[in-house]
Amino acid sequence: MTVSVALFTQDLRLHDNPVLHAAARAADQVVPLFVLDPAVEAAGFGAPNRQAFLADCLADLDESLRRTGARLVVRHGDPAEQAAKVAAETDADSVHVAAGVSAFARRRENRLRERLGERLHVHDGVLTVLPPGQVTPAGRDHYAVFTPYHRAWQQAPRRSVHGAPRTLSTPDGVGGEALPTATAASPALPTGGESAAREQWRRWDVDGYADLHDALAADGTSRLSPYLHFGCLSAGELVARALKHGGEGAEAFVRQLAWRDFHHQLLAARPEAAHHDYRSREDHWHHDEREARAWREGRTGYPVVDAGMRQLAHEGWMHNRARLLTASFLTKTLHHDWRTGAAHFLALLVDGDLANNQLNWQWVAGTGTDTRPNRVLNPLRQADRYDPDGAYVRRWIPELAHLPGPSVHRPWLLAPDYPAPLVAPEDLNTRLRAARSLD
Ligand SMILES: Cc1cc2nc3c(=O)[nH]c(=O)nc-3n(C[C@H](O)[C@H](O)[C@H](O)COP(=O)(O)OP(=O)(O)OC[C@H]3O[C@@H](n4cnc5c(N)ncnc54)[C@H](O)[C@@H]3O)c2cc1C
Repeated sequence: MTVSVALFTQDLRLHDNPVLHAAARAADQVVPLFVLDPAVEAAGFGAPNRQAFLADCLADLDESLRRTGARLVVRHGDPAEQAAKVAAETDADSVHVAAGVSAFARRRENRLRERLGERLHVHDGVLTVLPPGQVTPAGRDHYAVFTPYHRAWQQAPRRSVHGAPRTLSTPDGVGGEALPTATAASPALPTGGESAAREQWRRWDVDGYADLHDALAADGTSRLSPYLHFGCLSAGELVARALKHGGEGAEAFVRQLAWRDFHHQLLAARPEAAHHDYRSREDHWHHDEREARAWREGRTGYPVVDAGMRQLAHEGWMHNRARLLTASFLTKTLHHDWRTGAAHFLALLVDGDLANNQLNWQWVAGTGTDTRPNRVLNPLRQADRYDPDGAYVRRWIPELAHLPGPSVHRPWLLAPDYPAPLVAPEDLNTRLRAARSLD
């Protein structure tokens, strides 16, 4: 009997998984392995919401594998060391893993290669639709502007979608640990795992997406981001399905998946952009812990900002429009360092993702790839446009639920007990304009 190892990372699925597919083709038996790496926590990336979601993902993956005749082996420690150990114990000829984009993932890959040499097979196009670097502009290693990237991305050839394996077998006697358990920080976290992901995709109405994706109260986006972050769904399969479905909604949805790839290709080329300005604006950020705390706790005095922050705390997820305007409020209106906001998001977001989070924060802060780096989203105009009836704010701020219609966006007129605005409505641009000498 020949044996291979499928080392799962951010690809916790059976459908369209090139890693599992290749491992199953390479040998008679497969060891599906997941290694709980304490370095993830040490790096500050092990937020309770994501740990709880991950526990669901692993339980679901094990259940699905058992239906094929295999089972998930869970170990604890350095993934390279554990994968090499499992390979030695089972006499495996090959170990398969997805190519990652972060510096952390690259270092893991290097350690795996040191231990396994030619037995290691790293697969591209597992975490994203196109592997980073597949499309590049002339003379550069990555795209810094989305529109030309999107054009190239749409025309690039894509790999075909794999089905889920029907039968697999795992050698007897490979020892593993119990599946992990974890308690979420947010009370209304979604259920993790490939089964829940596929159910969410079936349930969601992609046709409404083009019209509804920015409407805060409609909640019409897919809510697939945590499943994409953990790889419970393949972005490539989603693109193939959406394009087959067709229509404006599907097209708009596919465009968002291209944004996801865009940020991944950027982080792959510039791993330091996770922590440093991609394009410095020479900002001397404002420090004020009282303001930062009010922002985190949803007490800025601007209800649409506060509603977003409270949704984040409650669900471990926030609507994209709310992410944009809460991030703009922190980095542009208050002119606080984007890293302060990015860290708070990463501490709570169930979809918290180094590429998407840090590079969206940089986009909003104007230190990233936005071609209009000094735009400031006015929370009142955003509220009037994307929550015209005030329903989103009333859902998240019970103390304002008695205010009718759009009056909820200006509580200083009707609800004197609500916190006063941290910055007056006429001064929303003032700090940024002064800091970046825009006047
Ligand atoms: C400040 C800020 C921080 C963010 N942090 C994260 C993060 O940590 N993780 C994360 O997955 N997304 C992040 N986003 C992007 C986006 O807000 C979420 O992907 C989206 O809200 C998730 O909801 P959904 O699955 O319903 O998205 P949909 O609108 O249904 O979009 C489908 C998928 O496309 C991808 N996508 C959508 N918008 C973006 C975008 N702007 N950039 C990259 N990918 C996108 C996501 O994978 C998403 O699941 C952030 C955006 C901002 C402005």
